[in-house]
Amino acid sequence: MTTQESSNVTSSLDSFRSDVRRWLRENFPACLAGLDALYDPKEATALHNSAEYRRWTNLIRDKGWGAPGWPVAYGGGGLDAEQVEVLDQELAQVGGVNPIAGLGKMMLGPTLLEFGTEEQKRRHLPPMARGEVRWCQGFSEPGSGSDLASLQTRCEDRGEHWLVNGQKIWTSFASVSDWCFCLVRTDTSSKQGGITFLLIDMRTPGIEVRPIELINGATHFCEVFLNDVQVPKAETLGPVNDGWTVAKRLMQHERNGLSENRRAKLDILPLALEYVGLDDQGRLADPDLRLRLVDHMVTSTAFEATMRRQADARERGLRDAIAVSALKNVGALVAQERYDLAVEILGNHSLGWVAQGDAIQEEHIVRDWLFSRAFSIYGGAHEIQNNITAKHVLQLPS
Ligand SMILES: Cc1cc2nc3c(=O)[nH]c(=O)nc-3n(C[C@H](O)[C@H](O)[C@H](O)COP(=O)(O)OP(=O)(O)OC[C@H]3O[C@@H](n4cnc5c(N)ncnc54)[C@H](O)[C@@H]3O)c2cc1C
Repeated sequence: MTTQESSNVTSSLDSFRSDVRRWLRENFPACLAGLDALYDPKEATALHNSAEYRRWTNLIRDKGWGAPGWPVAYGGGGLDAEQVEVLDQELAQVGGVNPIAGLGKMMLGPTLLEFGTEEQKRRHLPPMARGEVRWCQGFSEPGSGSDLASLQTRCEDRGEHWLVNGQKIWTSFASVSDWCFCLVRTDTSSKQGGITFLLIDMRTPGIEVRPIELINGATHFCEVFLNDVQVPKAETLGPVNDGWTVAKRLMQHERNGLSENRRAKLDILPLALEYVGLDDQGRLADPDLRLRLVDHMVTSTAFEATMRRQADARERGLRDAIAVSALKNVGALVAQERYDLAVEILGNHSLGWVAQGDAIQEEHIVRDWLFSRAFSIYGGAHEIQNNITAKHVLQLPS
């Protein structure tokens, strides 16, 4: 790129940023600022049903910014990666969230764009981009988590349709989902080569969902039982018996999305100033905490910069397989450290629970800290990501 071309790109991005900023100023309801992680289901439902939240959802949807990077033909905003990054940054600046979210948009959408038939893309993507349909991920089974390819859910060819029998576990949001993207076994003679990727309507007879309680008080986890579930053949994503290839790509989108989620949402510096205070020289009163805080901020900033470089590389067409597993692990560690520090900063205020006189901010931080234990498990456990990096990036022997 010449200097002139590069400065044209910068100025068009700057003008895009000004447009986004103006649009947010005119449209984002300030009363929604910071309201993105409500654990009490009643509280979350009340927020999502509020007139302001609904208005905000409609505005984002109509603007095409629900799935800003997807092609316009499938309900997306047609923005490039840099523009999406700018939109995210400006949203974060006003404390706003994109209300069109979920596992479908994060993982299945980009996978469908790559592997779906034209008919599947036109049927499934626009409702996802408008946030009208919720998806869950039916991958893990009892005994098949890290060793996912050992999954047993049976899928038989019954001519017009598939017949599915088996059990899934840790299926986040299954109880409130309309559809499930699911891995099933169509051939028992080959481990990875006998898996098929299906899209299953959760209203199909034979599906039973049972919620599981979590330590942080939320219940988004479920077991899913599939008994003689009939799935139309048209809902097969990718080739029969080659669902593993589709699943591996989806898991890259998952790990990428999870790394994105790990970018600093909780700013612990103001928290430290509020709860720990300053010494008489104007420095954070606890010198040991001060050092660890600086250390964390350096790592966190380096992680942010690496995520931006990765987005750049993706924009230039470089496959991100190399970095994905390493970044998923680094992101999990950085975010876990952030919550560990936050809880330490809160001190005694981190001991309370609902209705014990704690500020809402304290309660949220403690619940987020508890949930952060899962960052190094879901989307593929920490050790598994290290194995992938060792084998596929460093070419170490298995
Ligand atoms: C909050 C949360 C949400 C989730 N949501 C979903 C969902 O929506 N859909 C879904 O399908 N799944 C979901 N999962 C499941 C998740 O993907 C699995 O928990 C994860 O893949 C680990 O599998 P496992 O629990 O069976 O652990 P195991 O495979 O039993 O592993 C236990 C431990 O052993 C280690 N280990 C296992 N094998 C090896 C090895 N070869 N080398 C080194 N160490 C190894 C692991 O790293 C881990 O530390 C979710 C999990 C969590 C915690």
